[in-house]
Amino acid sequence: MVTAKGEVYLIGAGPGDPELLTLKALRLIREADVALIDDLIGDEIKELVRRECKEVIDVGKRAGRHKKTQDEINELLYRYASEGKKVARIKGGDPFVFGRGGEEAEFLAERGIRVKVVPGISSAIAAPPLAGIPLNHRRFSPAVVIMTGRERESREGKERITWDALAKINATIVILMGVSNLERNVRKLIEHGKDPETPVAIIENATMENQRVVEGKLKNIAEIARKKGVKAPAIIIIGDVVGLRETLRDFVSYPDISQTNSPDKDQTDS
Ligand code: SAH
Repeated sequence: MVTAKGEVYLIGAGPGDPELLTLKALRLIREADVALIDDLIGDEIKELVRRECKEVIDVGKRAGRHKKTQDEINELLYRYASEGKKVARIKGGDPFVFGRGGEEAEFLAERGIRVKVVPGISSAIAAPPLAGIPLNHRRFSPAVVIMTGRERESREGKERITWDALAKINATIVILMGVSNLERNVRKLIEHGKDPETPVAIIENATMENQRVVEGKLKNIAEIARKKGVKAPAIIIIGDVVGLRETLRDFVSYPDISQTNSPDKDQTDS
């Protein structure tokens, strides 16, 4: 049923396991007239959305030649909402943690479309503990930096990350979208004074059956990741808290992923 005035639900779907969807997310998916989904939400959540929502558009799929651009997605959201539909825009993790939720909300707000936000569990927060790594621990860093690994020079050719400060800050560094530029980013940190012995962990496919953890040090993690064929989606954690994994790894884990499924004992190269 179409309401007179449409609206968009900007929904965070969490890191991939459907059980980490919030009740509110599920209710709004059921209430929506149309859902727009992308790849990052994972296959199981995609199936769930297809079961629960009348119409589903996979904007991450390479339908025909190319997957939809951000502009096309914005336009689609606007078009459906202005037809009076309730549109569920479902994104991986939290919609506003590097999810371009901000851009979509801005586009819609500028055109007078109401946006309701359902926060999701960001992979940046969810993934580290699944590998036995608390983001904070009183003995270690008092801060967390969550950043994208894809940041390069801005259009004006200026570096937008102050590597100097980043290398010195006493924080756990969590990098999203960091696999392809891992080598460059690690080099930048070391060049700017970060200890090459700093422990690093990479969590691939967090909360999914094929979750995998790869460990190393700042000085060798790029090589280890390359050898082990680490692929996106993955979260990179840099900092002394990674060392806690040694104590926690056999006792702290994700409920439905068996320990044997992440046979990473042999993955600690140093
Ligand atoms: N809004 C999302 C992030 C979008 S950016 C969130 O809050 O989680 C996409 C990046 O998220 C990926 O490149 C990867 O770094 C990370 N990511 C998302 N889901 C993940 C998962 N299940 N396991 C590991 N990393 C994941």
